[in-house]
Amino acid sequence: MTSLSFLKRTFVVVTWEPNQIVLSAEGVDLAEPKRPIVEIRNIFKSYHRENLVVPVLHDITFDIADGEFLALMGPSGSGKTTLLNLLAGIDKADSGMIRVGDVDITTLSETELAHWRANNVGFIFQFYNLIPVLRAVENVELPLHLTALSRRERREHAETALRMVNLDHRMDHYPKEMSGGEQQRVAIARAIVTDPTILVADEPTGDLDRASAGEILAMMQSLNDDMGKTIIMVTHDPRAAERAKVIRHLDKGFMNHDASQDPL
Ligand code: ADP
Ligand code: MG
Repeated sequence: MTSLSFLKRTFVVVTWEPNQIVLSAEGVDLAEPKRPIVEIRNIFKSYHRENLVVPVLHDITFDIADGEFLALMGPSGSGKTTLLNLLAGIDKADSGMIRVGDVDITTLSETELAHWRANNVGFIFQFYNLIPVLRAVENVELPLHLTALSRRERREHAETALRMVNLDHRMDHYPKEMSGGEQQRVAIARAIVTDPTILVADEPTGDLDRASAGEILAMMQSLNDDMGKTIIMVTHDPRAAERAKVIRHLDKGFMNHDASQDPL
């Protein structure tokens, strides 16, 4: 056996044929260590109310790995939604850097940010935020209007996304004709239909009964496990947090850094 000691890690060459070299290293992922999909550095955010400055986030720094399922927890008013909105490009930080994929979103103009958001972020909200006058399939198609897809392709993609959340039989229903759990599944279909870089969910089970909440969480877990989607979920619900791979806590705008919660 040959050892490749010139590499950063020591690999053992298992087979070495002209066009194929297979390397192995016990207990080590052979893939290059991936760069985090999201990098948050020294984020500060305040709101201004009349003459009052309300500091909300204090020097927040952490990474989100590609394929992570992160639960962001903390008391009401601790800044969870504010932080989620910054990561999703809905709001802007006062200072600090946020990179998502290859883009430092803190440098984008409002117009660039709107375009970036449409292509890179899928949103799931507590109260679903479906358009009441549109049928399920039309709601799911909405984010695709900002893409170059044809009308027919948009419809096909929306139908596929609805099938993925097991709503084949509800495509033509209006939101008010569906249960809360079903509406949230439509919202999940709308969130994934553009194949975004990150999925962000703000209290996605906050308005659901226990059984529907369980279904929604199972669906999010499967998006993460089976499709490798990176999910950032704000939640109060310990049962929701149990599904996550990483839990981070915010308290009065501070993130308690606990290295044991970092992904390996
Ligand atoms: P959480 O989601 O953890 O409940 P938020 O991020 O919504 O917390 O809010 C954090 C703090 O920022 C709260 O004190 C809230 O009152 C304040 N806040 C949130 N949004 C605004 C706003 N648009 N204008 C002024 N203050 C705000
Ligand atoms: Mg909130």
